[in-house]
Amino acid sequence: MPYTNIIAAIDFSPAARHVIERAVDLASHYDSRLSLIHVYEYFPPLDIADTPLGSVSWGINEQELVELHRNQLDKLAAEHGDPPLLHHLLTGNPRDEIIRHVREQEIDLIVIGSHGRRGIGRLLGSTAAAVLHHAPCDVLAVRIRKHD
Ligand code: AMP
Repeated sequence: MPYTNIIAAIDFSPAARHVIERAVDLASHYDSRLSLIHVYEYFPPLDIADTPLGSVSWGINEQELVELHRNQLDKLAAEHGDPPLLHHLLTGNPRDEIIRHVREQEIDLIVIGSHGRRGIGRLLGSTAAAVLHHAPCDVLAVRIRKHD
């Protein structure tokens, strides 16, 4: 059965381009819809009121960080498609948001890197393993090696 609605999960590690390239190939093969998904992990500011440091300014605020991620995603989408690939910036826990998006949008294939920023050294990175475990559809883990 052909895939009709594919997502590529992107984390902006150097290997992300391999994930996108594989997803673009598959989408073209099946003539399916393709979207890039990045989940921005929101870390609430630490409560540092009780520390000797008092209040600390991190020099960049949450909104600016979201914009940086949005710009990076826009750039990747434009680099890999003409017109640019569809893309969505979500916020929260990567596994939960990817699975929620997949259910809501009736995605039938998730393309994900076997490893990203966290998982080198394991068989599957933590995000890939978590998504594979909870996905209601097929998952393709693109093999990422250390030098990628
Ligand atoms: P990791 O678990 O960090 O080794 O990442 C494995 C793969 O999960 C990456 O290659 C990406 O395809 C995907 N991934 C990791 N973090 C995110 C994220 N924040 N948003 C979307 N996809 C992600």
